[in-house]
Amino acid sequence: MALFRTMAAEGHEAVAFFSDPSVGLRCVIAIHDTTLGPALGGTRMWPYATEAEALTDALRLSKAMTYKAALAGLDLGGGKAVIIGDPARDKTEALLRAYGRAVDSLGGRYITASDVGTTPQDLEIIMQETRWMLGRPRESGGSGDSAPATAYGVLQAMHACADDAFGDPSLSGRTVVIQGFGKVASNLARRLKDEGAELVVAEIASRARDRAAEEFHARIVAPDEIFDVEGDIFAPCALGGVLNDSTIPRLRCRIVAGSANNQLAERADADRLEAAGILYAPDYAINAGGIINLSFELATYEPEIAMARVAKIHDTMAQVIAIAKNERLTTAAAADWLAEARLSAARAMAPRA
Ligand code: NAD
Repeated sequence: MALFRTMAAEGHEAVAFFSDPSVGLRCVIAIHDTTLGPALGGTRMWPYATEAEALTDALRLSKAMTYKAALAGLDLGGGKAVIIGDPARDKTEALLRAYGRAVDSLGGRYITASDVGTTPQDLEIIMQETRWMLGRPRESGGSGDSAPATAYGVLQAMHACADDAFGDPSLSGRTVVIQGFGKVASNLARRLKDEGAELVVAEIASRARDRAAEEFHARIVAPDEIFDVEGDIFAPCALGGVLNDSTIPRLRCRIVAGSANNQLAERADADRLEAAGILYAPDYAINAGGIINLSFELATYEPEIAMARVAKIHDTMAQVIAIAKNERLTTAAAADWLAEARLSAARAMAPRA
């Protein structure tokens, strides 16, 4: 990879590589943009097939964090760390502590949190070596599991979308079609049921699937059938890349609003959704509840105050819809425009060296 060319093209400020063979640590920390504040982003531990794959992931994910934080109105930048290794096999206290020292050496320019392959309990070990971390368990004074806040933000965005698409923000009697029934989706389902919505769910894991049926009276469909279900809102809450040229023509919903990251396989899918008359809630605009909640750990964490801030995702979504209409943009482009406008304004205010 032509690393410096890629960094210049994508706007990355720094990429740091850390190695400690004595504990098996191989890690990349990418800092995308610190215009708005220190770069916040979780630590992903994954058995990447190649080092290049790990680097690409760190670069891509750190940039997405800059946009997510900017649009959420946080005074934080975007970063991401990836540790090469299998969390089930390779994660040890010694490795996590060596990783904590790596984070600490960046002096607060990067703040870590948990992500795929790392847990709030791992953060308690990392915390022995650095204070630059967020997302400790609730019982240790932290903000704990981010899924409830993420789900709450997605629900707020659904209200804003319903208001635009149906002229009524209420979700009572609406059918929400959910792909994946994990931590975020199950929290979302509880709130949707409380509001009187009907649920259709596809889930590959039998335990989660049974829970959806028994606890939430969801109609269960096979994983591949989920795109064909007639409903009001399609909520991708499993994987990225699920909205593409073969799935979009199958959708039978007026709105797409879910928590999964990177839902569009490619940029053109935003145009495909618009052409199909489907209102797309940009993923990073509406799944920011988790980092908004996390950011409140920077002061004393008060759940009510944090959730009140998460609720503002409703207004962000309404603003994205308004910009998309006024500027004749897709909602995905409107969200990028809004995030970039905030970054440009902050850059213009920054003192020049
Ligand atoms: P999770 O792992 O708890 O849930 C994902 C679920 O999707 C699992 O139960 C899995 O079995 C299921 N699944 C996987 N492939 C599937 C398929 N093809 N069809 C049906 N089900 C499938 O994860 P989560 O924390 O609930 O996060 C869900 C999504 O939201 C992820 O994309 C995640 O990156 C994103 N997200 C989560 C948060 C958060 O706070 N947890 C924040 C922002 C974004």
